[in-house]
Amino acid sequence: METAGISAQTIETLQKYHIRAQKKFGQNFLIDPHVLEKILDAAQIRQEDCIVEIGPGIGTMTQYLAQRAGKVVAVEIDRALIPVLQDTLRAYQNVEIIREDILKMDLRRLAEEKNEGRPLKIVANLPYYITTPIVMRLLEEQIPIHSITVMVQKEVAQRMQAQPGGKDYGALSLTVQFYAKAQIVGKVPPNCFLPRPGVDSAVIRLIKYEKPPVFVQDQKLMFALIRASFGQRRKMLVNGLHNAQQLSLDRETVIRALQQMGVSPDVRGETLTLEQFAGLSNLLSGAGYHS
Ligand code: SAM
Repeated sequence: METAGISAQTIETLQKYHIRAQKKFGQNFLIDPHVLEKILDAAQIRQEDCIVEIGPGIGTMTQYLAQRAGKVVAVEIDRALIPVLQDTLRAYQNVEIIREDILKMDLRRLAEEKNEGRPLKIVANLPYYITTPIVMRLLEEQIPIHSITVMVQKEVAQRMQAQPGGKDYGALSLTVQFYAKAQIVGKVPPNCFLPRPGVDSAVIRLIKYEKPPVFVQDQKLMFALIRASFGQRRKMLVNGLHNAQQLSLDRETVIRALQQMGVSPDVRGETLTLEQFAGLSNLLSGAGYHS
């Protein structure tokens, strides 16, 4: 497909179907071919891949995906865009359009039905109002997924990739990095979209681990510790965990565990690595935690 003129094509399609971008669905259509190429290259698509595209919009990226992948399943919530997609994608036999809310879909079943249970690759210019719930679902539920290559708000990408100590580091960083290797592929300015979003964007690639990079006896406890630590991020970790009602941990137990790990008792949660949260959680398993 010609990459030049994509902006004109997009505008033409939007005019032809009298489409007004719906804010409530987070619609900002990509019009920059270089950015599209960047997303596709990052996703490392091969002919044998089955891609799930979340929110195909008017099908611009879908056409590129269809040319590189064996199969594309495009899941779009906006009923008004379905006839447009049927038109823009009519030349591609390997694309299936599904009108559905991605947050409500049974994605395990989809992998089973469309890809014989083999891992899917997720590619999307995500609707920003639900980026975190979508990414969390894709990571936390046991869906066979190889990788997630998505456009998100720049700050969200930075939080996903952040390392201990900085202001961006938090529960989102640790959760994402427990399940996947995160890498920001590039930043994208507002003028690459129509209409322009009020924020900068970034493409991030999350390659899912086959098994987590750290050993955790009780994942629920580890994530409860993480949430409690960052819920009171200015406080010392000991106080944050002691104050968290759902944990009922006394200060001495936490201090003892930290000492066993060789970590100072006045440490703040935001400096702890994923490995250290896993270690702390393993030491505290059975030490007063009520699930
Ligand atoms: N892929 C198109 C592009 O790059 O030009 C559109 C991207 S736009 C940022 C987000 C798309 O996600 C819109 O088409 C919107 O209607 C769709 N969307 C929003 N919420 C959704 C949901 N819960 N499930 C599926 N699609 C959704």
